[in-house]
Amino acid sequence: MEKIDAIVIDKTGTLTEGKPKLVSISILADLPENEVLRLAASIERASEHPLASAVVKAAEERGLPLSSPTNFQAITGKGVAASVEGREVLIGNLQLMREHGVDIVRGSGAAQKQGKTVMYVAVYKQLVGALVVGDPIKASTPAALAALKSEGLHVVMLTGDSRPTAEVIAQQLGITEYEAEVLPERKLEIVRDLQSKGRRVAMAGDGINDAPALAQADVGIAMGTGTDVAMESAGITLLKGDLGGLVRARKLSEATMRNIRQNLFFAFIYNALGVPIAAGVLYPFFGLLLQPTIAAAAMSFSSVSVIANALRLRNIKLDM
Ligand code: ADP
Ligand code: MG
Repeated sequence: MEKIDAIVIDKTGTLTEGKPKLVSISILADLPENEVLRLAASIERASEHPLASAVVKAAEERGLPLSSPTNFQAITGKGVAASVEGREVLIGNLQLMREHGVDIVRGSGAAQKQGKTVMYVAVYKQLVGALVVGDPIKASTPAALAALKSEGLHVVMLTGDSRPTAEVIAQQLGITEYEAEVLPERKLEIVRDLQSKGRRVAMAGDGINDAPALAQADVGIAMGTGTDVAMESAGITLLKGDLGGLVRARKLSEATMRNIRQNLFFAFIYNALGVPIAAGVLYPFFGLLLQPTIAAAAMSFSSVSVIANALRLRNIKLDM
């Protein structure tokens, strides 16, 4: 069986902690900071996105009274739209703002250059603020990436986040191949492209937007910290949502395949030797036949050897 030789990783699914936190709010109109946060959080309450939880949590920490949104709409890979207290509000990335004709006079390049995610907030298509969210790189990520690379894996990072943000994260991690502002269909396409170049592709992701790519990959790896759809689409779920788990999963699967081959040997060798002896191949030369009791013992030994060998898997060291 061919081994996986490329891995496509969603930025939030593996690489970062996946628990984004609101770090600052830029005010871009004469609406107070808390009011921008309150409106945004009222909408984000209806979203399942990890970025949404960061906004809601920040509003709750400040004790802001949230209201219920109407006409809620999630725009995959871009953001959300809804009405709050009769006001039409948009929250999302630059693409979403552009598509709705929202003028971005002053961007948030500085925050993005620190690897932060920026979500713009517009009320009646007028920009009122930007929410800056940070999601630190997981402590285990650099070592896990190094281990994957040293095994010759081609690593590609994908993210729906902006280009400047992706660039910083990729640089910090030494990832040379990455693509930003990707929509779910594009994630799927990238996995397909690699496969059409003859690569065996693993894909690691956590979001609803990763599900098609997870299903397409030769091995789909979902993070246990992510969405249910991702876990349902993937063959493997890493409970702790940690890339180190991927290195361990790979080691374990290699050891398991080795063990299966050894077990096939144990399962067949007793029969391959026993059946001809019982049939009398050695009888003309040595007068040797297999007694039924010994044959029965050999059958049991075959099973015992297989089980004993399989149990050795408990002892393999998976740590990096
Ligand atoms: P990723 O591939 O990194 O998991 P997504 O495709 O889910 O990212 O999202 C891409 C971008 O769309 C985010 O960086 C954010 O700017 C915007 N976005 C997505 N969902 C939301 C949301 N619920 N609220 C605000 N912005 C969002
Ligand atoms: Mg994601």
